[in-house]
Amino acid sequence: MHNIDIGLVEMTLDVVKYAINRITKTDPELGKPKKEEELKVLVGETITSEGIGGENAFNIFKEVLIKATVPIDHPRHLAFVPASPTRAAIMFDLVTSASSIHGAYWMEGAGGIFAENEAMKWLVSLTGLPENAFGVFTSGGTAANLSAMVAARENWRKDPENVNKKGLIVTSVGAHSSIKSMAKVIDADVVLVPTEDLMSKADLQKTIDGLDAYQRKRLFSVVATGGTTNAGIIDDLKGISEICAKENLWFHVDAAYGGGALAADSVRHLFNGIEKADSITIDPHKWLFSPYDCGAVIYKNPELAKEAHAQEGSYLDIFKDEGSRGFNPSEYQIQLTRRVRGLPLWFSLAMHGTDRYKSAVEKGIELANLAGEIIKENPIVELVREPSLSCVLFRRKGWTPLEYRDWTYKNHKDGFALVTPTKWKMGDTFETVSRFCFINPDTTEEDIRAILKTME
Ligand SMILES: *Cc1c(COP(=O)(O)O)cnc(C)c1O
Repeated sequence: MHNIDIGLVEMTLDVVKYAINRITKTDPELGKPKKEEELKVLVGETITSEGIGGENAFNIFKEVLIKATVPIDHPRHLAFVPASPTRAAIMFDLVTSASSIHGAYWMEGAGGIFAENEAMKWLVSLTGLPENAFGVFTSGGTAANLSAMVAARENWRKDPENVNKKGLIVTSVGAHSSIKSMAKVIDADVVLVPTEDLMSKADLQKTIDGLDAYQRKRLFSVVATGGTTNAGIIDDLKGISEICAKENLWFHVDAAYGGGALAADSVRHLFNGIEKADSITIDPHKWLFSPYDCGAVIYKNPELAKEAHAQEGSYLDIFKDEGSRGFNPSEYQIQLTRRVRGLPLWFSLAMHGTDRYKSAVEKGIELANLAGEIIKENPIVELVREPSLSCVLFRRKGWTPLEYRDWTYKNHKDGFALVTPTKWKMGDTFETVSRFCFINPDTTEEDIRAILKTME
């Protein structure tokens, strides 16, 4: 199975040819979803005792399966947080796979981990964290948040008084769903500051002051958001950092989506205070143009993360030996065996330079502001709030939630665009509205106008 024969060489060429075509196509077909039963009829049995052959399997992928997916880098995919990996990063993702590097331990992965760490140094430099701050690439923001929360909780439990206590985290309504679900994983309670808008210093203080005595004893961390997923709102990081310092709390900033904007001079000041964080999440697979999956967690004091995450096992002892000393990514987050998923980012950064990254991120912000202007001029729609980072929330005047839903499906089924409704909290009620999130620098003004036209 692993030996090279002539058939395999041809297959390799086919696969590489496909990859080249896809990488050079900037406007791929927007796939349409299909039901599982439909796919089963079209695809038939693929896992058999004899195998169906590479050519057959690849044809099924090209003719059926890929067409039932939505390319997240399509310029009119503006839903959720889309993506737009650079061609260089995609190419190097192939190289990373082909190189079979184990990315958990320096002993095996030194060269790959070295390169990942060069990219990480740039990320860390964007945050303004003090010297010695460092991080690792994770499978995504969820894993990064979990890794940071474990480090925070373990640090808190060093105090013997806290060993048997259930922890408690304060965050805001605007925080990403993964904060709440990862709190479940570490069995911590969550108290929400009741705002989807910017979490201010005063809001946070009020929520902390409102905790009962036992809750206050269990509180070990505040999670602020550096660019909410729904609206691109950045909490008052400076004010929150002051409260965390005063109350002796671990300050985590979830900048999974917004972190890329640390590279953008036009908005960098909005993140002031992030340099005081104990830990930060940034997803290069969101706004730093990396292919899936690539998140990152950065710690002010990586030693605290190591105390929480280093795994013990007799078969792992060799990694502690002098001869294999080096940076072991597995010791700073929840995963052991891992691909060197920071390598595609490293190659792309090395190839293009960081200035190109700056301008590509600025482009997303410009597109959001442009969409805001176009919406203001168009009588059938109106802004819910001014664009923030690259998110634009707007309403189609007079539409019910059902009309937003039907509109989304129609554009999707037509293979034209993917733009989905969301909700925005107005007082005590949630209003259904529409939302753009710009990541792809190839999205154009015409794309925005054409999508709005479908709302007429
Ligand atoms: C997307 C997002 C996450 C989750 O990241 P994944 O990479 O999807 O795991 C967490 N926090 C914020 C603010 C996000 O936007």
